[in-house]
Amino acid sequence: MGLTADSVGKKACGGSFVPEKNSGEKIVALAGNPNVGKSTVFNALTGMKQHTGNWTGKTVQNAQGHCSAGENNYLMVDIPGTYSLLAHSAEEEVARNFICFGGADAVIVVCDASCLERNLNLVLQTIEITEHTLVCVNLLDEAKKKKISVDLNKLSDRLGVPVCGTSARSGVGLKEMTDLLPEVILRENKNIPAVIYGEEIENAINIIKPVLEKRSCGKLPARWTAIRLLDNDKKLNSAISEFLELDIENDKEISEAVSKAKKYLAENNISDPELKDMLVNSIVRHAETIAAECVYTERPDYYERDRKIDRILTHKIWGVPIMAAMLLVIFWITIVGANYPSELLFSALFSLGEKLSGILEKCNAPVWLNSMLIDGVYRVLAWVTAVMLPPMAIFFPLFTILEDAGYLPRVAFNLDRYFKRSNACGKQALTMMMGFGCNAAGVTGCRIIDSPRERLIAILTNSFVPCNGRFPTLIAMITMFFTAGAAGLKQSFFSVIILTAVIILGVILTFAMSKLLSSTVLKGIPSSFALELPPYRMPQIGKVIVRSIFDRTIFVLGRAVSVAAPAGLIIWLLGNINTAGGTLLTVCAGALDPFARYIGLDGVILLAFILGFPANEIVVPIMLMMYLSSGKIVEYEDLDSLKNILADNGWTVTTAICTIIFMLCHFPCSTTCMTIKKETGSIKWTLAAFALPTVTGIILCAVTANLMRIFL
Ligand code: GDP
Repeated sequence: MGLTADSVGKKACGGSFVPEKNSGEKIVALAGNPNVGKSTVFNALTGMKQHTGNWTGKTVQNAQGHCSAGENNYLMVDIPGTYSLLAHSAEEEVARNFICFGGADAVIVVCDASCLERNLNLVLQTIEITEHTLVCVNLLDEAKKKKISVDLNKLSDRLGVPVCGTSARSGVGLKEMTDLLPEVILRENKNIPAVIYGEEIENAINIIKPVLEKRSCGKLPARWTAIRLLDNDKKLNSAISEFLELDIENDKEISEAVSKAKKYLAENNISDPELKDMLVNSIVRHAETIAAECVYTERPDYYERDRKIDRILTHKIWGVPIMAAMLLVIFWITIVGANYPSELLFSALFSLGEKLSGILEKCNAPVWLNSMLIDGVYRVLAWVTAVMLPPMAIFFPLFTILEDAGYLPRVAFNLDRYFKRSNACGKQALTMMMGFGCNAAGVTGCRIIDSPRERLIAILTNSFVPCNGRFPTLIAMITMFFTAGAAGLKQSFFSVIILTAVIILGVILTFAMSKLLSSTVLKGIPSSFALELPPYRMPQIGKVIVRSIFDRTIFVLGRAVSVAAPAGLIIWLLGNINTAGGTLLTVCAGALDPFARYIGLDGVILLAFILGFPANEIVVPIMLMMYLSSGKIVEYEDLDSLKNILADNGWTVTTAICTIIFMLCHFPCSTTCMTIKKETGSIKWTLAAFALPTVTGIILCAVTANLMRIFL
């Protein structure tokens, strides 16, 4: 199987996503319930690195990649996990629209072998839409451990479509699966056994079906379209109209047939809500029957182990303390583990800087050029690398291990009641966790929340948890100012406690702001939802480390470095362009100074936050650049000397506390703001998302600074 880069898709009918394929490629959609291994199959086939993890709802938009198998080339499209195609939520709509209107030549429905019955609902709904369906029964290795076996041949007979078995994580069965694709793509409608909905509904379908067969010219299956017209989902109706280029609601022949069928159902005492129930129930019953015939279970008590662990980890009283303890341990490992490599990196990179400066001197480079490149660009880069790389390289793999093991949904479960009390949705706990990685990803992840009101609350409050751009800076600040006096383990212990307290403050602010929003501009009742607790899985440690280092750490560092280098240059220039009142930097910082000091910061810090709008990672480097370009060229080869630079520039404990608070609560970075604009489609809500944490941060800093002034 060959690997190539992905290409861009475009929007089409019903907001569905039509991928742009290379010539000769066939489009293959990967559908399935959440957490069944779709992204794992997708990554294995395309060589891409779509995010995988043991929880429901991580894929919220289509991803695509190329795959070649034998003579054939395919464009694989990974669509969001969904339990049904009846579109109750945004992901279901994306999935359904792609399967119906996305022009896929085949759909692979990936299923979990251990809970096939539930997965078959989606299979049966997909088969109704397209005969080019291939069923991939994945996670066979896990099913085997649970002593569950599936008769794949019988399943194929009962469903009337090809079925293959895989263990995608180890690549087993994937070749056999792609070998089946040409047959699946070419197959003609082979009288696939359909779900039977009961005599009355079948009669009603048969009133509409012949008219549709004539009018839709085979573009959509007439039986499925007839059922949807009876079901009467307005949004889907208009998507179907757009796709068929036929106004189905106002077309005389079609609407007459639909009215006749509806009248027939009414005469048989089947109202619209009853019809909906009967449609869903028939599919569920059909799935039950097939599963009962094809799945064999030797140990029905297998899930007892998971339930026992859940009784501890999601315990009403102990669940939250255990969670906080886990957070503490992760931070402790991160801080202790990061100290030594950070120091090594500091000294290595800064002595390299000296050498580079020496080389420039030897080459007779002008002093200003030497200073600009080494003091302006190199040192900022070195700082970002030495401070950020070690904690990220430790924190991300630890976080990913928890994610892979299936702990994140348990966090959502534990926090659910607190979000409910804030009139928000428990799933917000998951989007909040995603925010720890990157707030922009957290904002996109809010699509897993169905209610628009609750989604907006989750988006507006996402930046109250620090993303990985802010984490290392928080750690550095805490270590410098609050634990420097303590030695060794004691120092890291204090750092961990303070960092955990800062994170908990972020979580408390998330609850408080959610409550504030839901009792003012976003009033409403919290919706209920079924949170799926996936099985605990043994994480693949090696893969986790590689994936989190390459996918996350290097990505974040690359972004920081690519923004920090030009920023370093610009700051150096601003710091060296003189005006009547001083350099441009000192003039701007001077103008901000009175307000900044009122809230416990200084003009330089506030200006650094403003100039750091492109990426949070560069706020402290900018600050340093400004302090250093103000004439004091000091060496800063480790955190102690860094603290000296700050102390020389008037930093006190109050300044450090207020900077930490403002680091936690200020406007989201530019990428996050753009994502919020994209997700909400509204400048007004983007501005609100900008203002909410900023105003909160200013108020908290002002109160803290003034209290400290009174009491210290
Ligand atoms: P998606 O939500 O359907 O895209 O699922 P993912 O691809 O993210 O996989 C969910 C979890 O199942 C991840 O932790 C995967 O590592 C794991 N997984 C996927 N396929 C297999 C498999 O065949 N065997 C085992 N044991 N785990 C798997």
